[in-house]
Amino acid sequence: MKILITAGPTREFIDPIRFISNRSTGKMGFAIADAARQRGHGVTLIAGPVTLPTPTGVTRIDVVSARDMLAAVTEHLPRHDVLIMSAAVADWRPAQTATAKLKKEAMSATLQLEPNPDILKTIAPLKGSRLFVGFAAETGDPRAEAQRKLQAKGLDLIVANDVTQPGAGFAVDTNRVQFLTATQCTALPLMSKHDVGLALITTLENLYTSQNP
Ligand code: C5P
Repeated sequence: MKILITAGPTREFIDPIRFISNRSTGKMGFAIADAARQRGHGVTLIAGPVTLPTPTGVTRIDVVSARDMLAAVTEHLPRHDVLIMSAAVADWRPAQTATAKLKKEAMSATLQLEPNPDILKTIAPLKGSRLFVGFAAETGDPRAEAQRKLQAKGLDLIVANDVTQPGAGFAVDTNRVQFLTATQCTALPLMSKHDVGLALITTLENLYTSQNP
């Protein structure tokens, strides 16, 4: 399979110094890219600003903002069979980005925001027979919210986790996730992000084979 993976946060600049972002480090997406490559798949990795080395054999494209990520996904999707959106895309961006540093005294206490495009929803018309995978990082039991996102975003599978659980979520090398499809929910034990990546790739290989016999 040819697999397109997004990873890491996006940054939404207020001025050349300041930005809005989130806690994502890209570890989960990079681990999936490494696992997919090890299994012999072709991998393109679209990465937000992270400090991780590129996994061997993976083609990497660096982006900064949600709109950059949308443009890169739109450009590269046609050459791929699977899209895995593990990136933590910023939902909002400043309504204006100043070209020079804003002086503290000149700044308003209120930041005017506007919504970023939802990448999965925007590219849904390009899906065709491709497999689309999303992530749902929640606080608390993620199943209900993950099922809602699975349907709302037209996904084949969603990887859900409760980021408040020990060893799960941001900046750690382990995760405790559930794989949800329209008909199945599989809860995995606490495992390394690399092993989560391998388990996800095995599940996608099976889904792909069942849809492309
Ligand atoms: O942010 P949320 O929990 O809705 O994200 C669920 C999925 O949607 C993730 O796979 C994420 O990468 C994707 N997403 C997106 N565009 C956004 C926000 C999230 O494609 N603007």
